[in-house]
Amino acid sequence: MTGSSSTSPVWHPFSQHQLEPVFKQIVRTDGAYLIDENGRSVFDAISSWWVITHGHRHPAIMQAIRLALERFDQIIFAEYTHEPAEALARGLIGLAPPGMAHVFYSDSGSTAVEVAIKMALGFFHNNRAPRSRVVVMEHGYHGDTIGTMSAGERGVFNAPYAPLLFDVDTIPFPEEGREQQTLDALERFCRGGEIAALLIEPLVLGAGGMKMYSPHLLTEFRRITERYDTLLIADEVMTGWGRTGTLLACEQSDITPDILCLSKGITGGALPLAATLCTAEIFAAHLSDDRSRMFFHSSSYTANPIACAAALANLDVWCKEPVKERIQAVADMHHERLVRFRPDPRFSNIRQQGTIAALDLAVETTGYLSEVGPRLRAFFRQRDLLIRPLGNVIYLMPPYCVTESDLDRAYGAIEEAADFIRKAAS
Ligand code: PMP
Repeated sequence: MTGSSSTSPVWHPFSQHQLEPVFKQIVRTDGAYLIDENGRSVFDAISSWWVITHGHRHPAIMQAIRLALERFDQIIFAEYTHEPAEALARGLIGLAPPGMAHVFYSDSGSTAVEVAIKMALGFFHNNRAPRSRVVVMEHGYHGDTIGTMSAGERGVFNAPYAPLLFDVDTIPFPEEGREQQTLDALERFCRGGEIAALLIEPLVLGAGGMKMYSPHLLTEFRRITERYDTLLIADEVMTGWGRTGTLLACEQSDITPDILCLSKGITGGALPLAATLCTAEIFAAHLSDDRSRMFFHSSSYTANPIACAAALANLDVWCKEPVKERIQAVADMHHERLVRFRPDPRFSNIRQQGTIAALDLAVETTGYLSEVGPRLRAFFRQRDLLIRPLGNVIYLMPPYCVTESDLDRAYGAIEEAADFIRKAAS
């Protein structure tokens, strides 16, 4: 038996320990692989929960971390600053859509979004025209804190905490052919004049089932929010850093949000860090002789210098290495392999956005708690593939160093898995 078992005191995330008490022990990572204690290489087809971009332990990022360790550990980030955070902020603003002017650091995707929501409400509060409602999209996911769960899809994940979640207004997911309903709903909500912000995952809704929509909708969201002075918060925690084919998904619509949330791939996935970027107006609304108007948010590990150094090295990788070409190659590899799934009745809704490919397994029971999910996971795990379907939605989101043969193995196993699930059901 590999890894830690039920005797371990560790409580793992999104895990039902009673049903799956054994965790595979990883002793090393390398490129697209996790190497277990028996020396087996597991293909990390989901980039370790979507964080690893270039590959595990990219040499330049590892070296930057080593060097930073010679000079820094954590430094309080009120009253004090440091060069890695300063240089990174300049670098992020250089890469972000024009109009982003300030960078607020935190340490996870959830905190990046919490900060964004607080910035939006603070903006209206400080401008003496308070607005307190947020519009979100059906099937959205923004994190697991109380605030971000409030903004996300309600369901089995957050039912126990529902009494604490705040109310939001929800626009329907823009299914193909029904996009106008989504736009009309947004306009209706905004017209009321109480909406501080529209919070969305641009182009791909990740945890909600890799649901994809067209870039022209983002342009429309920007147009409507601008018309009603509603802020647009782009949660690019998952879509950022190349996943959708461009550095940021917003680029594909040529829009600038008012607030931009980044995390996961910001360090290439090596260390936890998040950045919430905002416009000069939002910063200015918090600028005053009055101390009660400052932005009241901090966490102990804000702008950890080692993580900032890793992120700086990541920016350098983006500048100096052919990252865009690698991303295009991954997109092409998916495209070629998805062709054979399109006419296959065992699958439906074959879709791709850049380096993300997804398909639905045609089964009767869907949803996160469907037994299909754990069965598929176990099937893939036996084949040394890290693939974690979202219910019956199977997706691949590999690091950009993935090879043709890695993907062939993954797609081959997806086809076999469809038969396996069918046989188990009959
Ligand atoms: N926003 C989006 C779009 C995400 O996909 C996630 C995480 N999967 C988060 C926010 C939360 O990030 P974290 O898990 O780092 O808190």
